[in-house]
Amino acid sequence: MNVDLLKRLCETPGVPGREERVRGLIEKEIKGLFDEVSTDALGNLICRRHPRGKGGKVVKASGGKRPQRVLLLCHMDQIGFYVRGVDDKGFIRVVNAGGFDTRNLFSRRMTLVTDSGDYPAALNPGGRPVHIASEADKAKIPDVKELFLDTGMPADQVKKKVKIGDYCVYSDPFVELGEKCMSPAMDNRVACWLGIEAVRQIEREKTAHACEIIVAFTTQEEVGLRGAKTSSSIVDCDIGIGIDVTLSCDTPGVPEDEKVTEQGKGVGLHIMDSSFISDYRLIDDMEQCAKRNRIAHQRTILMRGGQDGAAAQQTGRGARAVGVVVGTRYIHTTTEMIHKRDLSAARDLLAAWVPTL
Ligand SMILES: [Zn+2]
Repeated sequence: MNVDLLKRLCETPGVPGREERVRGLIEKEIKGLFDEVSTDALGNLICRRHPRGKGGKVVKASGGKRPQRVLLLCHMDQIGFYVRGVDDKGFIRVVNAGGFDTRNLFSRRMTLVTDSGDYPAALNPGGRPVHIASEADKAKIPDVKELFLDTGMPADQVKKKVKIGDYCVYSDPFVELGEKCMSPAMDNRVACWLGIEAVRQIEREKTAHACEIIVAFTTQEEVGLRGAKTSSSIVDCDIGIGIDVTLSCDTPGVPEDEKVTEQGKGVGLHIMDSSFISDYRLIDDMEQCAKRNRIAHQRTILMRGGQDGAAAQQTGRGARAVGVVVGTRYIHTTTEMIHKRDLSAARDLLAAWVPTL
């Protein structure tokens, strides 16, 4: 399993609207896997692989019948913050891009990305430290408005180097631990990894496929599936596969019936969330394929939340759509954790199933 690629994807910063570094990494990584690669106005990287015959040979289009188009959507953005101002003392105010639980936003180490370079910074809400905090202070949950970044630089330096519109992300490194991996950017570099590694497996095994396989590495999912809408419109697919993380609440404090997925039990077949309901025939077909290939899998429903599959399903003339997900603990925190077995099951399922479409 190519853990090194996942690490590099996770450690490359990219918030909604600023995915260019992640896109750059992916562009280098996919050399030789696709026949056409383009970037649209929203920054989506759209990669097309024409049908392949026996031995992996490119099949020339003939007779005017176009191949079925299968679109895999993998969002490149991660949640983060934009700079909204610098005060006279050099403290930087921020606004979130994507959903944060502000209970998790005390004493965070951040990477601040600017035109003049990347800088380390501390993120904290305003207020007194524990020694002098009142009981009311301690119980308070901060608002995003109260958060500020401290770069350690004198105010005049900060004002020179940092401007409104710069952005920051958690700086915590990618870690392998036990059978798992942890990084603040698992959502959704996991899907970027899958979009590359599944096609790499198809290429390596010279698997024939009658369909055109299109992988769109999309932008701005965390703020409303924005990139997925334009890429779905451009591709005009017949089948859309939204690849993303989902919750894995198989942890203390969550009732058994709310766990969503259980880690280590395989790739998630995403039945529904609040943005779309997967095509049940595709779910059945995918499940049969998983069984035939002995790939660990689990059916899963997310009661709240959405993902790019909805855009593929509902854009233009619409498409049959399905979700393929990887159960992730502690989502939207700096400790997002996935099980390597679930991730490799997702890759194996995509590599086995997509060529059959
Ligand atoms: Zn996501």
